[in-house]
Amino acid sequence: MVVKSIPFMTAQRKRADRPAHRVRRDLVDGCGRRIDHLRLSVTSRCDLRCVYCRPDLHVNPPNEPAALTDDQRVELVRFLHERFGLAQVRITGGEPLVYDNLVPLIASIREAMPDLKIAMTTNARLLPLRAKALRRAGLERLNISLDSLRPDRYREITGSHLAEVLAGFEAARDAGFPAPKVNVVALRGINDDEFAELAEWGFARGSEVRFLEAMPIGPVADFNRKAYMPNSAVRSRLGEHFALEPLTDPAGSTARHWFASNDTCRGVIGLISPVSEPFCGGCRRIRVTATGGLYPCLLDSRSSDLSVSWRNGLFDEELAERIILQAVGGKAPQGTIQSTPMINIGG
Ligand code: SAM
Repeated sequence: MVVKSIPFMTAQRKRADRPAHRVRRDLVDGCGRRIDHLRLSVTSRCDLRCVYCRPDLHVNPPNEPAALTDDQRVELVRFLHERFGLAQVRITGGEPLVYDNLVPLIASIREAMPDLKIAMTTNARLLPLRAKALRRAGLERLNISLDSLRPDRYREITGSHLAEVLAGFEAARDAGFPAPKVNVVALRGINDDEFAELAEWGFARGSEVRFLEAMPIGPVADFNRKAYMPNSAVRSRLGEHFALEPLTDPAGSTARHWFASNDTCRGVIGLISPVSEPFCGGCRRIRVTATGGLYPCLLDSRSSDLSVSWRNGLFDEELAERIILQAVGGKAPQGTIQSTPMINIGG
């Protein structure tokens, strides 16, 4: 789909120590939102088959011939960092841990940008093999997806084994990561009797437990509409087990935070409600797929192709900048619909 150009705004900051073409300026969209977070998908492959995503229903390529190379990814992240003050990159997928070159990629990003925050969202299954190396490479934080603590149910939802994910969670702690945030997709009639249990499990490990509304994305949109549960209902369920006090949310946070406590435990709950309470006004993200597709909004099917920024192996910064500014300038005020599968975009 062709992206229509909408005027963008840039606020220049003088940096005498940079070459002219790398003068840092803010990346601000047509609605005045400053973009400084990147979600970078490193692969569209995944080792799970989650019912709300279902990689088996669409392309799950054994290899991705059209993918960006890791050198290109580092060049792109560095460009966004130096030119536009990118503050954080979150590595995602598909499942980032199935990407063979993940550790060297993260090490290269860290080496090139010591001050950039690097986080990753993962299903944790392969963390026992890679957690220590990832930590050494410079990965700072993890979000781990965990939709059920019941082995049979976990398998029904994801097609995989709960024990592996729990081992992955422990491996993250052993490797010295701060307590990972836990992501739970709230699914009516599937895991909606388990929210308090999941929260208590996370609290016991020092984790924030976040409940995500199922978004109607890609080929499983109808399934997700049926399984959808608004976070107001999640909060009511949690309220049967905990006293809930609202907390002040950090600027740009996608989650509304609550302090939950009862006689036996306490901790922080995050409610992420893209469907019932869109947080588009505070959005500061763009997304780049494994093949270089730039998605300014998760719930907008329009994308631009950043892979054309490399010609004969050389990165054309001016071209990349034009593509980025045009795409960000046209970032929708609010998301509506996404036909591209989540597994390609990365969440
Ligand atoms: N494979 C990794 C994982 O499991 O965390 C990273 C990619 S996954 C797309 C990122 C997050 O998006 C996961 O927490 C997953 O549960 C969530 N997710 C996927 N599809 C979703 C949907 N339709 N609605 C809400 N969350 C979704």
